Amino acid sequence: MDILSPIQYIKGIGPRRAALLAKLGIEIVKDILFYLPTRYEDRSSIKKITQLISGEIQTVTGKVIKAEVMPASPRRPRLKIFSVVITDGNGALTAKWFNQTYLGKIFKPAHKVVFYGLVKSNYWGSGFEMVNPEYEIIDDDEEDADHINTGRVVPVYGLTEGLSQRQLRSIVHLTLTSALATVTDVMPEDIITDLHLPGLRQSIEAVHFPPPGTSLSDLNGGTSPYHQRLAFDELFTLQLGLAAIKNNEISEKGISFEPTGKLTGELLEKLPFKLTGAQKRVIDDIAKDMKSPFPMNRLIQGDVGSGKTIVAFIAMLGAVESGYQTALMAPTEILAEQHYLNIHSLAESLGLKIHLLTGSKKDKNYDMIASGKAQIVIGTHALIQEAVSFKNLGLIVIDEQHRFGVMQRAQLRKKGTNPDTLIMTATPIPRTLAITLYGDLDYSLIDELPPNRTPVLTKVIRELQKNIVYDLMDRETKAGRQVYVVYPLIEESEKSNLKAAITGMEALQKKFPDLKVGLIHGKLPTSEREDIMRDFKKGLIQMLVSTTVIEVGVDVPNATLMVIIHAERFGLSQLHQLRGRVGRGAAKSHCLLLNYGGSVDAMKRLDIMARSNDGFKIAEKDLEIRGPGEFFGTRQSGLPDLKAANLLRDYKLLEIARKQAFSLIEKDPSLSTHPKLRRNLEDFWGKRLELFKTA
Ligand code: ADP
Ligand code: MG
Repeated sequence: MDILSPIQYIKGIGPRRAALLAKLGIEIVKDILFYLPTRYEDRSSIKKITQLISGEIQTVTGKVIKAEVMPASPRRPRLKIFSVVITDGNGALTAKWFNQTYLGKIFKPAHKVVFYGLVKSNYWGSGFEMVNPEYEIIDDDEEDADHINTGRVVPVYGLTEGLSQRQLRSIVHLTLTSALATVTDVMPEDIITDLHLPGLRQSIEAVHFPPPGTSLSDLNGGTSPYHQRLAFDELFTLQLGLAAIKNNEISEKGISFEPTGKLTGELLEKLPFKLTGAQKRVIDDIAKDMKSPFPMNRLIQGDVGSGKTIVAFIAMLGAVESGYQTALMAPTEILAEQHYLNIHSLAESLGLKIHLLTGSKKDKNYDMIASGKAQIVIGTHALIQEAVSFKNLGLIVIDEQHRFGVMQRAQLRKKGTNPDTLIMTATPIPRTLAITLYGDLDYSLIDELPPNRTPVLTKVIRELQKNIVYDLMDRETKAGRQVYVVYPLIEESEKSNLKAAITGMEALQKKFPDLKVGLIHGKLPTSEREDIMRDFKKGLIQMLVSTTVIEVGVDVPNATLMVIIHAERFGLSQLHQLRGRVGRGAAKSHCLLLNYGGSVDAMKRLDIMARSNDGFKIAEKDLEIRGPGEFFGTRQSGLPDLKAANLLRDYKLLEIARKQAFSLIEKDPSLSTHPKLRRNLEDFWGKRLELFKTA
């Protein structure tokens, strides 16, 4: 047996338990070893009932002498209390549960039990009680011989119906006893020693059954030395994979572009503005990469409105000037269309052929792409489908990278021969964390907004204060400025939301009869949307009601008021994107977030929006609220799941892991001197990527 064996190999785990464990995602021995407790309880000191202290969380054990259901009080006969009285020989304690009468089937007199919870003196002051304690029933013939349930810090696991804490604890214990010895530590010894981290076997055992003296708060916070060891292994393996990918890519021969600068020059003349210093710097970074014989892999980060599109467009012109095709891939049809709408008139004025390819577009015209006629192709995932082939794809631009996986990036690259890759993200990610998701990329930051931008003043408005909204609408439109009103539309198909937007538009038109109120939504054909946007841009429409189709790309400097209906339903980065549609001109802009009441997290989000205009700060808070897993969508992004490591909490460890991993790959690109580490790496990353080209 080894750690990859099915769990039935463990004595004591039969088919029934195996089926239950499968529900927890546990199938092989290794899954049990790394099934980490969600928390820990200190049961090292079991108090005598007579010595309990009121107001503290404590553990007691005793025999059930009474178990009964009774009404809470004569006045509230419907509220039932289940109460259990236990004694340890000297004192007695009552445990109570409200409206959980099914517990009557679980507790029977003479059962031996453990209770863990907040102890209170009872009403009479004559004894102790606990309300809703954690409980365990100890079968008489199942005494705690291994001392894994009491008298120590005990692990508490996530469970599934039909499996108790005690059973799972015993399964973990059995597995440790019979399989821990088969675990091999594949990490380079010197690194682990340098970091003063404990051994792997010791750490696996200790995260389940911590030795005496381990800090309870470290255990619960995931910062015990044992947790940190497991976290390091994950982060190191993650970074090793990224290092291998990067190494693979740069070891290939790429295209040395030779742009003439003609198209770019023409474009710059046509632009109504000058590039910012940050834009120029990033364009320089890109130009150097593109001229070099290695394939470019560069990430461009910049806050909303920092002007990423034009930077990408200039890079694309460089490829076209050198005789190559270029493609831009966006995560949604709306985003792709908007990029298309933004770029196509500029491109066409330069005499270029530009093509849009999305899943729902009827006239796909693959031939345009295959023949090389279309120099610039903009699209969605549709671009990576088999039917699509390019004549000579030289540069790919990927928008909103965090919504694409490493895999999809690789698939688009395969449409060319080692094309250069440029990745843009409008979701600023704290730098320390960017290196995880984008660990295989070079990195440029547009850290400057174009001039004449005044920060947007943001206010959260309750439904009842709607007059504030109308007043501001009135004031701004009277001053000749324009207004966005955004309704939530989670999915294109949600009819009720669309209806709300239509009703909202009609109501506003009635309230402001002298103004032209427009409506735009995803159900309209592209050409119609384009017309409406053009009218809004020209000022023919003063107030534009929309679903979130205006989220990106739209640019009307004269619009100074953004009203977001049901703001509590939007995510932070979405709100920030929307707000970025105003504050683009010299006039003071406002963003009003209409709050109809939502969860605590929703309120937190709105509060953060009201306090900050800084995309990086907002992203950091978003990360805090949602947690790294959901924020990054690791599953979606193609990164391996992390069990012990937490990208936020362990960022210092992450930086160390990254440095070590990259230096190891530099010394030994195919890990030929670390065969076990290499196997482990392939196992961790699964089939996500061919990490090594050479055998
Ligand atoms: P991002 O994609 O980074 O959110 P955009 O590329 O949409 O931002 O640019 C936002 C707006 O700023 C666009 O209208 C763009 O034309 C304009 N813009 C870009 N660069 C500059 C600049 N250097 N000076 C003035 N306006 C600019
Ligand atoms: Mg953009």
